[in-house]
Amino acid sequence: MPLDEGRLRRLIEAVAGTVIEHADELTELDSAIGDGDHGANMKRGFEAVLANLDSIAAKPLPGALQATGTQLVMKVGGASGPLYGTLFISLGKNLPEPANRKILAQALDAAIAAVKARGKADVGQKTMLDVLAPVQQALASGAAPAEIAARAQEAAEATIPMKATRGRASFLGDRSIGHMDPGARSSALIVAAIASCFEARS
Ligand code: ADP
Ligand code: MG
Repeated sequence: MPLDEGRLRRLIEAVAGTVIEHADELTELDSAIGDGDHGANMKRGFEAVLANLDSIAAKPLPGALQATGTQLVMKVGGASGPLYGTLFISLGKNLPEPANRKILAQALDAAIAAVKARGKADVGQKTMLDVLAPVQQALASGAAPAEIAARAQEAAEATIPMKATRGRASFLGDRSIGHMDPGARSSALIVAAIASCFEARS
């Protein structure tokens, strides 16, 4: 799936746009079980990505992913900045050009492993990993983009009854139950934006 500069540009704009548009929702979710900064953190990071769009989109996909991750590490802050940064940087490092679905699924698997190592976390702890892991499985199993996006949103909703055992929400113990994890929601938003770009092409 070759991504020329124009398509890559639209893909980055779609991802950044959806995160920025949903900043208030992410902040509300983080106000319930965290410190209410996830929306502002993510918005700041993706605004920095957009500010560097010309140089990022001019790179081949692996380099563009790494440059995006670098902006996120520098600008998002909080726990999610280094973790999203690790995700994008590792994805870029593990992705040869040209990539196909199988290679992308393998690279995402490696990137998720890097996020797990960075945050000393695993699936089932009410974090972004609870969305990223099922998305990787859906991608590996050949699901269509719209199906992958639906799985991501279902997985984000499935964090509502979970008890957080990693990150700031874990300080609340049982009181973290009953709210969607903000990082799970931001991951689902990012996946939906990427999926809709690929859906539009097929
Ligand atoms: P902070 O918690 O420092 O305020 P954010 O509010 O930006 O940072 O991000 C919170 C999100 O980060 C959580 O909703 C969760 O999804 C994710 N997160 C926190 N800690 C971890 C971790 N160790 N591993 C994976 N994701 C994590
Ligand atoms: Mg927070």
